[in-house]
This record gives sequence, C-alpha cells and structure tokens, in this order.
Amino acid sequence: MITATKAKIEPGRLLIDGQWVEGGKTLDSINPATGEVLTSAVEASAQEVDRAVQAARRAFEGGRWRTMPASERGRMIWRLADLVEKNIDELAELETLDNGKPIFESRQVDMPMVVDVLRYYAGWATKIHGETINASDTAFTYTLREPVGVVGLIIPWNFPLLLASWKLGPALACGNTMILKPAEQTPLTTLRFGELAVEAGVPPGVLNIVTGGPETGKAIVRHPGIDKIAFTGSTAVGKEIMRSGAETLKRVTLELGGKSPNIVFADSDLDSAVRGAINGIFYGKGEVCNAGSRLFVESRLRDEFMDKLVARTKKMQPGDPLDPKTRMGAIVSREQMNTVLDYIEAGKKEGAQLIAGGKRVSVDGGKGFFIEPTIFDGVRNDMKIAQEEIFGPVLAALSFDDVDQVVELANRSSYGLAAAVWTKDLKKAHQVSRRLRAGTVWINTYGLMDASLPFGGYKSSGFGRELGQAALEYYTEIKTVWLNMG
Ligand code: NAD
Repeated sequence: MITATKAKIEPGRLLIDGQWVEGGKTLDSINPATGEVLTSAVEASAQEVDRAVQAARRAFEGGRWRTMPASERGRMIWRLADLVEKNIDELAELETLDNGKPIFESRQVDMPMVVDVLRYYAGWATKIHGETINASDTAFTYTLREPVGVVGLIIPWNFPLLLASWKLGPALACGNTMILKPAEQTPLTTLRFGELAVEAGVPPGVLNIVTGGPETGKAIVRHPGIDKIAFTGSTAVGKEIMRSGAETLKRVTLELGGKSPNIVFADSDLDSAVRGAINGIFYGKGEVCNAGSRLFVESRLRDEFMDKLVARTKKMQPGDPLDPKTRMGAIVSREQMNTVLDYIEAGKKEGAQLIAGGKRVSVDGGKGFFIEPTIFDGVRNDMKIAQEEIFGPVLAALSFDDVDQVVELANRSSYGLAAAVWTKDLKKAHQVSRRLRAGTVWINTYGLMDASLPFGGYKSSGFGRELGQAALEYYTEIKTVWLNMG
C-alpha cells in the first residue's frame, strides 16, 4: 500500500507583508504517488502579485532590513536554518508527498543541503564589502556593494525548497527583499518555510510568497517594481523571461535545462562508473537539470559496461516514495509522465534500441505516475532523445573510439550545464574537463554539490551562477564613490 499522509494539509495561502492572506483562485496540489489531491494552493492574480511587490518595495525602501547591522541579518538567516533543521522530518515528508521523490532523497539530501546553504550565506552577510581603489592622488575613491532591491525568485518543481534556498540565501544575506514563487505542482515546502521565516523574525515584507502557475510568474516578470528575476526552470521559459523582462530592464539570472554528457573511458574503474551512470540518470527520477542523460562509453568497454548497467537498472524498480528503502519515486505529474512516455516512443521510432524499462508501471495497484528506469542503447547524437531534455528516468547511451571524437560529440548539444569523465588517467581527465563546454565537470563521480561551489550553465543552460561566493555578485549592485581631495 502506498503510505497515506499522516496529517491533513491545510490549504495554502499567500504570505504578503508578514501576513497570511486568502487568495481569489486556487489550484489543486496532487500527490504523484497516488494521483490524489493533497490540498490546494492559491493561484495568485496580477493584483495579488502587485500587493506582494508593494510590501517588498516598502520593506526595501523604508524598512530596517538592508540598514540593520549585517551580523543581525546573518543571525536571522542562521535562525531560519535552525528552524528548518528542527522541522526537517516534516519538510522532507511534505516534499516527498508533493513531488514524488523518495523520502531518502528529501530527508538525507535535499533538506540537509537547505540547512547548509542557509548557514553558508548567514556567514556571508558580514563579509559583503566594496574596495578602496586608489585611482588618483586628488580623490578618495571606493566602491560599495549594495542590494539590488526587490527580487523575484521563480522556482521549478524538481527540488522545490532546495532550489528556493539557493536563491533565498544570497538574496537575504545581501539585504534584498523578495517575492518567491514555487512551481504550481510543488508549493507545500515553500509555504511551510514561509511560516518558519515568520517564526525566525524575518521582518514583514522581506519575504513574500505568492503561489501559482505561469500566469502568476508572468505577472512577477512584468512588474515594474521588481528589479531582478532569478529563475530556475526550462530553457523555453527562460527565453520568454528575458524577452518580457527586457521591457523593465530587469537584471536576470537563468538556471536552465541540460543534456549532460557522462563520459566513460575504457581505463575507468568499471564498477564505480556503472554506479555513477545509474546515479547520474536515475537519481531524482531523472528530473534533475544536471542529469547525466547522455552516456558515452568507449567502444572497447561497451559490452561489458552495458551488461552491468542493465543488470543493476533492472533491480531498481519504482516504489512508494515514503518508504525509506525506495530509490525510484513517482514522476511529478501526469503531464510530465506523458511527456517522458512520448520521448520513449520517439526513441523507439528513431531506431534506438530499448534495453531496459520503457513502460509506465503501477506500484501496489495504485494510480500513481511511475515509470520504469529506461535505457536506450545504439543512440546517435542527432536523435531527439540525445538532443532534447527529457527530464525523466531515460538514458541515451552512445559509444566512441577516441578523446577528440567524444569531446566533439559531448559538446555538440545546445546545452552546457554539467558533464562527467570517468578514467584512472588524471592527465586525460583534466585535459578533457578543460575542453568540455559545461558549468560543472565531475571526475570519477557524479552530481556532487556543495553550498560553497558555484553552479550554473554555459550556452542554453543559462547564465549567472548560484551557490558559493559567485552568487553574491548577482544579488548586489556596485556603487563607485568619489571624494574630491584636490
Ligand atoms: P518551467 O520552466 O515550466 O517552470 C519553472 C517555473 O516557472 C515554475 O514556477 C512556473 O510556474 C514558472 N513559469 C512558467 N512559465 C512562466 C512564464 N512564462 N513566466 C514566468 N514564470 C513562468 O520548468 P519546470 O518544468 O518547472 O522545471 C523543469 C525545468 O527546470 C527543466 O528544464 C530543468 O532542466 C530546469 N532546471 C534547471 C536547474 C538548473 O539549476 N539549471 C535546476 C532545476 C531545474
């Protein structure tokens, strides 16, 4: 039996100016493991977005948030991290119910990283500073780093609270105020986080939460009272945001899609590389922007490698996301499940060889949105399943004969988010890493992240960086001050 929710989840409201308010229209939030409605959330209108922006503007212009001692701001972010840690089991369960990801991932990976990210940026609050630049003998010249203003944070459904924390951490540390919009499929952890922010003493208007779908997102992007948009989501929506944000000259950072190459050389540690290929594509049900969805295996290792890969994959069946032993959860929505199944059909039609999975499955006789972990072999790099982001548990496997060929194939993609190289030859690993056009390269591992290490894309995977010191640049403006000493 798919485990039922322990508690009834209250319908979501909007957090505006420190108050929880009802909205006009609502949207259902579905549990993808059962197909049943969990609760509802508000679908915020342009007027409701406007009220949130006015509150954020007031908190920015007249409030104490950006002028308070930086250490006080840092302590508040730290308190928020403590509250997330205190409520970690509840937040992890909400994330799993809303998104369908295994509780193992929500509890052991996502939520601990939310805590880490908030603590990392709590520390940065006191270390954001300008420079003294001695440009002339007759002037005293220096720079100040100031918050950008009101920022709009738009989040996808795959790592709801984690990706929100990547934006909230630096935005808060730098003294901005914000409008946060989770994806329409997964609002629950963001709403609970809003309650924790109120409890932590984040001043009214600093963090406003508006739920809703694309129309709510569009109202945020168009609003003249917002100075910057930090967006994570699909490349198509990223382009639209750039276009409509241009009208009000918004600062924009975009974390977009990927089709990351995972390159296995014949001299790699075979078992680790097989495990890496599995984690690379099936972690998070493949609904991961940096999923290793294009696997390149050196021809002379191919048969042995693929046999091991398929054997392990067949053992990995979808299960109840709330069961701690489950490693393959439910696809986030019926719509996304159908998209993934369409790609599987496209792969078959294009002549790729289906060697594992390929079907929707029922878990415990239920109506959840589960798909078997799927592998296509004999894929050509120009096939749709090798070029387009599927965002599901579907691996496209290709083979290669030498370094130049694989670098060329790996880079022949519109995306450039991440890549991995498996080899015992470290010189080769570093050389290949330098030639790959990607924002992150892993050597002999896949998917590791840390709050201190910048993450972001080349090419159509976006621009700007999240995490690390690098993110601070995108939440501050630099002001130059001249004092005439002549
Ligand atoms: P999506 O682009 O459809 O939606 C993302 C968010 O944007 C949601 O909150 C949605 O409501 C909102 N939105 C949709 N249309 C909008 C519009 N016209 N204007 C403003 N907001 C709008 O993406 P998704 O399906 O939720 O997420 C999957 C995508 O996110 C994948 O392409 C994935 O690669 C990408 N992603 C990237 C990263 C990264 O760090 N690079 C991380 C996770 C996910």
